[in-house]
Amino acid sequence: MRNFLENIKNKINYWMQGRYGYDELNSALAIAFLVLWIISLITKSSVFYYVGLIGLGYSLYRSLSRDHLKRSNERLWFLKKVEQIKKLPKQWKQRWEQRKTHKFYRCKECGVTIRVPKGKGQIEITCPKCGNKFIERT
Ligand SMILES: [Zn+2]
Repeated sequence: MRNFLENIKNKINYWMQGRYGYDELNSALAIAFLVLWIISLITKSSVFYYVGLIGLGYSLYRSLSRDHLKRSNERLWFLKKVEQIKKLPKQWKQRWEQRKTHKFYRCKECGVTIRVPKGKGQIEITCPKCGNKFIERT
């Protein structure tokens, strides 16, 4: 029996060799599947379940993938998004606190948020990131 289990373990290890395995994005996809499954049970709509299932399938595909570069790029993209989302409440709070003295604009070229002082009339705003220029009333 012990040999049998050992044998299976070795076979799995051999089969998993060179494959990407598990990371944060895979756990997030698994959690998303559970959440969507619960939502589908509550709403009695199978759409959520199938969307979650696609995510779970992608998670499985990722862990068995041999393309490490692509998978770790996905992981970095995911971690960056998580960081951006974590920063959002702080950004909203700052905007709320500065709402009387500053106005916030989004650059249409690169999407960066630009803060300008209020009450300066019509001004030309230059994006500090990409150099795009646009005119707004402050
Ligand atoms: Zn820009």
